[in-house]
Amino acid sequence: MIKIKLFGVREDEKKIARDWAKQNQVDVSFSEEILTLETVEQLKGYDAVSTQQTGRLDDRIYERLHELGIKQIAQRSAGIDMYNLEKASEHQIIISNVPSYSPNSIAEYAVTSALQLIRKTQLIEKNVNEQDFRWKPTIMAKEIKSLEIAIIGTGRIGQITAQIFSAFGAKIVGYDLYPNEDAKHYIEYKKSIEEAVSGADIVSIHMPATEDNNHLFNESLFNQFKDDAVFINTARGSIVDTKALINALNSGKISGAALDTYENESTYIPKDFRNTDIDDPILVELLSRTDVIFTPHIAFYTGTAVRNLVEGALDAALSVLKTGSCMTRVN
Ligand code: NAD
Repeated sequence: MIKIKLFGVREDEKKIARDWAKQNQVDVSFSEEILTLETVEQLKGYDAVSTQQTGRLDDRIYERLHELGIKQIAQRSAGIDMYNLEKASEHQIIISNVPSYSPNSIAEYAVTSALQLIRKTQLIEKNVNEQDFRWKPTIMAKEIKSLEIAIIGTGRIGQITAQIFSAFGAKIVGYDLYPNEDAKHYIEYKKSIEEAVSGADIVSIHMPATEDNNHLFNESLFNQFKDDAVFINTARGSIVDTKALINALNSGKISGAALDTYENESTYIPKDFRNTDIDDPILVELLSRTDVIFTPHIAFYTGTAVRNLVEGALDAALSVLKTGSCMTRVN
């Protein structure tokens, strides 16, 4: 029987993997550890591997996989920046991902956190916890219907986010390197990011992290924002200069931010730090603020998305074994 090992497995993935294995008459086993130069040795006697890497994979692992007779790595996420695709190809290792597992999960989360910021729910909760039940200007909200929303990156997730905000009656503007023809029905495309953000009450970013867009959202771009705007990042932490964002919050230029991703998140997410000090003053600052909603990269985390991720990765692994390739290979 074909044997597949899953690394970086969470409890919620195991039942889905076991059900898939039963249906496909494959044997699956699990490790909670990620794939490293040490754990790769656990693959002796296996036919295929799936993992959920967040940090960079050691380049020497590709050669070792080849020696062990393994032909692929099936990543259980969309991101592939942790792989050296050239090195993988050099050792005939096919890398696959799950490019689209549920764009709704992230889009719905982006809208949820924007609503929380606009309705000042964190501040209201804090007041209520202190038994301060007064109505005051600091908790007065706006209505989404009267707002302009900028969607930066109008691919799968950006388009759904735009559609949901559209349903509220908001005006949607957008920017993308490659504007989408169909989305022009509900997104007014602008010629630059600066133009898109300049009139927006909510700016929500949905583009991938690339070498070109590291700290794209910096002091100079935040200065182009409309006063009092809120900023939503469910894309990637590296796109945002977090110090510049904190300065923009302190100066009152930006009134709130929801960060589901953070540039230095890999040390902390998804780990339990309840009894450990956080050695990152920027993160400590973000966690202490009522104008910031910080979440641990969970915009994707719905039952539908997790099922699609596990099944999509295992389908890809099996396809490589049976046909020598798969639809979702990235190298
Ligand atoms: P997609 O490929 O469908 O769309 C991305 C869009 O961004 C494309 O239209 C592309 O042309 C555009 N783009 C690329 N670089 C740009 C730039 N510099 N300026 C403007 N537009 C640019 O991707 P998607 O499925 O919509 O996912 C978007 C991003 O969401 C992912 O790359 C990932 O970083 C992030 N994501 C986050 C989570 C989470 O849990 N927080 C989960 C999945 C994906």
